Amino acid sequence: MAAQGPFVSTITGSFSHPAGDNPTVAMVEAAYRHHELDARYLNCDVRDVDLAAAVRGAVAMGWAGFNCSIPHKLAVIEHLDELAESAGLIGAVNCVVLRGGRLVGENTDGQGFVASLAGVVDLTGARVVVLGSGGAARAVAVESALAGALSVDVVSRSAGPGRSLVEVLRARTGATSEHAGWDGDLSLDVLGHDVDVLVNATPIGLGDAEARVPLDLASVPPSCVVADVIPNPPRTRLLRDASARGCRTVDGLGMLVAQAAHAIRLWTGLEPDQAVMRAALERALGQIA
Ligand code: NDP
Repeated sequence: MAAQGPFVSTITGSFSHPAGDNPTVAMVEAAYRHHELDARYLNCDVRDVDLAAAVRGAVAMGWAGFNCSIPHKLAVIEHLDELAESAGLIGAVNCVVLRGGRLVGENTDGQGFVASLAGVVDLTGARVVVLGSGGAARAVAVESALAGALSVDVVSRSAGPGRSLVEVLRARTGATSEHAGWDGDLSLDVLGHDVDVLVNATPIGLGDAEARVPLDLASVPPSCVVADVIPNPPRTRLLRDASARGCRTVDGLGMLVAQAAHAIRLWTGLEPDQAVMRAALERALGQIA
């Protein structure tokens, strides 16, 4: 944590553009208040041309760290001193930590996903299938592999990003990995093996509770845990349909809370109360939905 005197607050925050609808501030500040930590989380609207100056400003003011969201997750990397292993493999940074004067890039999205599965399924030896190959999919796939999954297969419409993710998983993690194309309703039978965890890491369902992931649900065994990265609305059609089939489900709200909790841990050393954070997030999402 940054050096403190009695009148010096710990400063954290977020750099993104646009920044107006970022609900993270509500849950992080709720945790700081709950734990009586003299810390702030400032939601900063930073345009891409101002990113370098914003990073220098955070260093100059002794911030403990900051989140990066659209459009800075890739661009921030050139301003950092080092990358954590998973951030390097994912190729994107959503959390920067100021440690001993050095800027360290982390990616907490996938770590949040893995944490959100706790108590539901153990990834050790699990066969995971990730739908999509964008930023969230890369984070989920890499962290699932690093957490000990036996296989992490990637299903995506665009072959290029999907295959390059598969190459990273094969070369840099202990998991096996295959790519499958996605044209029309996906049958998990094309993978040729059982699936323990299926993750929607596409934006299908964001802001639309009826949006349907093109998937043949009959191919999803009831023993499969179905997870969705979509935080709002959290009970997506995919999760409702999977529950109706008897599958256990994990929503994207838990992932969002867990990745913010991990950021708080990295910045302050505090183990925050995630129930407090989730309640604050649900209130904030209710306000902006
Ligand atoms: P990207 O734009 O980087 O990637 C989106 C991916 O979804 C691409 O692979 C894209 O495929 C695929 N996709 C989009 N629409 C469809 C479709 N109709 N059918 C099949 N594939 C589709 O987005 P992100 O990965 O950054 O974000 C994805 C979602 O994850 C967002 O909704 C975001 O809210 C959520 N998220 C949640 C987090 C949480 O903590 N809960 C954290 C981070 C993200 P193609 O290349 O073929 O277009």
